[in-house]
Amino acid sequence: MMRVGLTGGIGSGKSTVAGFFRELGIPVYYSDVRARELMEADPELRGRIENLLGEEAYAEGKLNRAWIASRVFGDAELLEALNALVHPAVAADFRSWSARQEAPYVLQEAAILIENGGYRNLDRVILVTAPEEERIRRVVARDNTSGSRVRSRMDAQWSDQRKIPLSDFVIENMELEATRRAVHRIHRELLEIPGSPGAS
Ligand code: ATP
Repeated sequence: MMRVGLTGGIGSGKSTVAGFFRELGIPVYYSDVRARELMEADPELRGRIENLLGEEAYAEGKLNRAWIASRVFGDAELLEALNALVHPAVAADFRSWSARQEAPYVLQEAAILIENGGYRNLDRVILVTAPEEERIRRVVARDNTSGSRVRSRMDAQWSDQRKIPLSDFVIENMELEATRRAVHRIHRELLEIPGSPGAS
């Protein structure tokens, strides 16, 4: 099974692009959603998180996201330690999920994929980009949050300039119909890759 990464900074439009691939019948694995599920449902992972952060990481059996966010905010080492627990669990889950899919290829959508080296385990990487000011406007409108909060999350991610050379495909997501056409073009290219079931 060919595995393709789909990434992009906050507000770039990863989920929007993922939706276009799904319309073409391509299965999408949403890493961030699945990570939260595994943090709750995988007892081994949960034990390790409690050891690292304390039992307050869970409240009434549920992941205490606000508390965890406040613990790791501004503590890069602790955040790295948490990621070092969560990432291998997600990677293993993604591998077993993708083995069960019937499709010419699958997508792994993740906000952080290049920064942490995760892209090296994938066959191809698609990067979604948009100007930073536009991304801030989109997220402020979507999440009813402030520009400075979006900016601080953005500052924890790599710039597009740094990620572009490590990506196989770049989609500049501004005009939605142009984005849809770019998705169709990339889909056709992926089907032509030798070893893909769609290759002629
Ligand atoms: P995040 O990393 O924050 O989860 P994302 O990269 O998945 O974001 P989306 O949720 O797809 O981004 O898009 C962010 C917001 O911008 C959404 O409200 C979406 O509808 C809107 N949006 C996406 N693409 C465009 C576009 N080309 N033009 C205008 N608005 C867009």
